[in-house]
Amino acid sequence: MTEEDKELPANWRWRSDRRFDEPAVIFDMDGVISDASHRQRFLDVDPPDWANFNSRAWKDPVIADGVDAVRAAARDHVVVVVTARPLITIDMADSWLERHDVPVDLLVLRPEGDERHSPAVKRDELARLRAAGARIVSAVEDHPGIVKMYEQEGVSVRYVHSGYYDDIGEV
Ligand SMILES: [Mg+2]
Repeated sequence: MTEEDKELPANWRWRSDRRFDEPAVIFDMDGVISDASHRQRFLDVDPPDWANFNSRAWKDPVIADGVDAVRAAARDHVVVVVTARPLITIDMADSWLERHDVPVDLLVLRPEGDERHSPAVKRDELARLRAAGARIVSAVEDHPGIVKMYEQEGVSVRYVHSGYYDDIGEV
């Protein structure tokens, strides 16, 4: 652990020796690089079954277009995954990226105890990334509300249609 890593937020994990000396690209995980469609049914019940939804993420197939985009970006950018998955699942996310050879430099999950909607969580993580020196040039995201948030914050966004949000209207 380096001096600067002692200041690392508890929900951040560096996975390489890279730091913010190159421009950075943010990728979402579910619906962008990992295919969560096999576990969406756990959210279609009232109340949503988050425990089963989250614990099955290790089985997600890769989304080839998303992973190709990560690999292309990684040539000359720091790749940051910002996901609203709960912090308790960080080891699963880390090993999934390792298993599928997805070159993510920094993994950022939802902070422990933060139960706000995903756009609010990701807005704060964007601010923390910038404060830490990240020069965010773009983001890739499938959640319409998060796409809107990134645009409001001046980040160029590539929207990916996953179909997960087709019936939730305004988010
Ligand atoms: Mg997503």
